[in-house]
Amino acid sequence: MDILVVEDDSHERARIQRALSPWHDSIRLVETVAAARTAMADREPSLVILDLGLPDADGLEVLKQLRRVSDAPVLVYSGRADEQDTVALLEAGADDYVIKPVGDDELRARVRTQLRRNEPSRLSGPGVLRAADLSIDVARRRVVRGNEDVRLTPTEWALLRELIANAGVTVTVAQLWERVWSREYGDSGLHVRVQITHLRHKLEAAPADPRLIVTDPGVGYRFELP
Ligand code: CA
Repeated sequence: MDILVVEDDSHERARIQRALSPWHDSIRLVETVAAARTAMADREPSLVILDLGLPDADGLEVLKQLRRVSDAPVLVYSGRADEQDTVALLEAGADDYVIKPVGDDELRARVRTQLRRNEPSRLSGPGVLRAADLSIDVARRRVVRGNEDVRLTPTEWALLRELIANAGVTVTVAQLWERVWSREYGDSGLHVRVQITHLRHKLEAAPADPRLIVTDPGVGYRFELP
């Protein structure tokens, strides 16, 4: 498990390293977006911790660019985030965010949650699911549409796995929040909604008229076996 930290403030870098190093032996620290690009090309990290206020590029742009080349979970390490920022961050592909200052225990917990999503699936379940030109192989973490691989982020996988494990049954937003995010606070509705939207755009033939991941209004979401 390799963690790439992109943060220009030396105190914050030292802090993150101090908080994580007893538990994680591979932590790479870089100060600029340019250095982050080089580091990612060198080796794809298991997790990126990304400060948004960087000297050589806008954080949100960096996040979008990063999402185009990597599925690694991204934990945004931010100075501040109001509601609109949060939506923009999640839509741009962030998996989670922490607001500075954050305690060491809290930071470790968030990192653990993200890294856990990289673990192989324990779901033996339904084998390969097929719907029209789409196939979903949960155990192998592979989605194919037509002849093309569809790439899902670890958060999207964790969410899809949870829905498929309960196929035919509505899973509430609170249950998804607890099982996929393992958090006790934060805007659960927002996180779940944005990631469901991501999944629908990747999986559904018509995302606005979903057939696989349907909304149970006021309750949650249900995966309908094709
Ligand atoms: Ca900064």
